[in-house]
Amino acid sequence: MIEIRGLRKTYRSRKQSVNAVDNVDLTVGEGEVYGVLGQSGAGKSTLLRCVNMLERPDTGTVAVDGVELTALGGKRLRIARHGIGMIHQHFALLSSRTVAGNVAFALEVTGAPRAERRARVAELLELVGLSGRADAYPSQLSGGQKQRVGIARALAARPKVLLSDEATSALDPETTDSILRLLLDLNRRLGLTILLITHEMTVVKRICTSAAVMRDGKFVESGRVADLLRRD
Ligand code: ADP
Ligand code: ADP
Repeated sequence: MIEIRGLRKTYRSRKQSVNAVDNVDLTVGEGEVYGVLGQSGAGKSTLLRCVNMLERPDTGTVAVDGVELTALGGKRLRIARHGIGMIHQHFALLSSRTVAGNVAFALEVTGAPRAERRARVAELLELVGLSGRADAYPSQLSGGQKQRVGIARALAARPKVLLSDEATSALDPETTDSILRLLLDLNRRLGLTILLITHEMTVVKRICTSAAVMRDGKFVESGRVADLLRRD
């Protein structure tokens, strides 16, 4: 579902250059929950942002669902990106729009007809357990509820792949657990493929089937989580 080959991304300034992602290969199968674990600065978020081409890699290829994104630009890339949802550590909600408005916004961008939007928003809020809060504003929600809105918005265009950028790092342990349970539930019910980055081993242990450890832009270890744990 996700195929990355020979991916490199270097940030250059006058003083120095940083190999943020240094020759990474990664294959994530359909329906897998794959975790990339590493400390701050390891290159995790650069890697994730290359998967949906928020960053354009210097070299290497990224294919999602059989479509080589690195070969696309413009409108065709924008359309391909509808197949990839993303959730963020700090939720990235629009504070001036209601819960329903935040989710509807993602549908507007995909060009869904007005009449369909309302029903789809209701369906998405039901999916994440927020049916009662459609008219609330983000400031009126708990962190866990905000992330549920983020998840509903990420799934608006029915993506096959969800990218998670430290989605539970701003949440307390109990809320973290409820969000991880929701992600696992969506993985199973929708067959959603999930690629997540985290600095927390507990997250990887809790929901990932496979994982890689990233350091200085490289994967230093990777495999099935059960095998990685046995090696420690
Ligand atoms: P992580 O997500 O694991 O914390 P990042 O991908 O954010 O790692 O960063 C990897 C390296 O690339 C770090 O050394 C960071 O300072 C550098 N870096 C990330 N983004 C930029 C940028 N936009 N400009 C310059 N350097 C960057
Ligand atoms: P905002 O003012 O935050 O933009 P709106 O009330 O204008 O929010 O709603 C934006 C969109 O969200 C509407 O077009 C509608 O499709 C959807 N929407 C609004 N309220 C609900 C609701 N209670 N249930 C389902 N969808 C809703």
